[in-house]
Amino acid sequence: MGMRIGYGWDSHEFKKGVPLKLGGLAIDHPQGLFGHSDGDVLLHAITDALLGALAVGDIGSFFPPGDSRWKDADSTIFVNLAMEEAQTAGYRIVNVDTTLILAAPKIGPISGDLRERVAELLRIAPGAVGIKAKTPEGLNQDHLAVAHAVVLLEGIEEEDSLREMEAAMDDPQTVEAVVGELVGEAHSGHSSRRRVTSRPGFDTEDIT
Ligand code: MG
Repeated sequence: MGMRIGYGWDSHEFKKGVPLKLGGLAIDHPQGLFGHSDGDVLLHAITDALLGALAVGDIGSFFPPGDSRWKDADSTIFVNLAMEEAQTAGYRIVNVDTTLILAAPKIGPISGDLRERVAELLRIAPGAVGIKAKTPEGLNQDHLAVAHAVVLLEGIEEEDSLREMEAAMDDPQTVEAVVGELVGEAHSGHSSRRRVTSRPGFDTEDIT
């Protein structure tokens, strides 16, 4: 199944009196991001990156903004749906990288918490989540928050079967059993393993 890459971005406008949510975290700030849902620009970008990697549409096609069910919705719902889509398609997340562009609040002091929360939502290690932030220098966009996200997915079956093979090779009992069987064959001249009957067994006397 191999690997797939996805990219997503989103923007929301700051408004006074709206609670600020970023990466699934409630952040103490005088302004929040206005949107049909909770305006969590980071989770929206990550959701679109996941859906994009699977080529199954975007957040708007799954959760139309006109649908009253998603009014003030917690954006973790969107992430969870994208995670389910990935799982159904047989993929898991390798890593996610994100960039936030906003004038305030400062992301540095909360980047560790953001990373932990996003990792928890995506069920991956914090070390697989990149959180970066920039101020919108020269863009005249101090009233906005913008988020970009890229995600890498890998096929579950392929990776699992490789891991099983590796585990078997690392298991001393398996190695011992195979060696024992081969030694037994060498002594008896017979193979205890099933051979493909259409092909003759390997005969050491043929080597001259
Ligand atoms: Mg959005």
